[in-house]
Amino acid sequence: MIKVENPEACTGCLICVLACSFHHTRKYSRSQSSIEVNKSIFSEEKKAEIVICRKEDSMRPICDMCKEDDFPLCIQFCPENVFKVKRRQE
Ligand code: SF4
Ligand code: SF4
Repeated sequence: MIKVENPEACTGCLICVLACSFHHTRKYSRSQSSIEVNKSIFSEEKKAEIVICRKEDSMRPICDMCKEDDFPLCIQFCPENVFKVKRRQE
């Protein structure tokens, strides 16, 4: 699964959010992303709240680990290395 490893480094750029929505829908849409980032790029808050949708009861698409792509897009495109892949036993 994808783990939020380093939320303090997040700038709120939303690249991961839009990359994820592109994976799911081929469109850029915050509401069609598995990732929700609650931090504005203009905010002075240090830590972002980042939620990855993993359950059916959300309006958002569930993270499928970018199964049709070579590598998870959120990891590929986050400039701050906020995410990492977590194995089950970690
Ligand atoms: S791995 Fe893919 S589907 Fe899952 S949160 Fe990252 S970009 Fe979205
Ligand atoms: S791409 Fe990285 S820095 Fe940008 S909002 Fe997503 S987690 Fe934060």
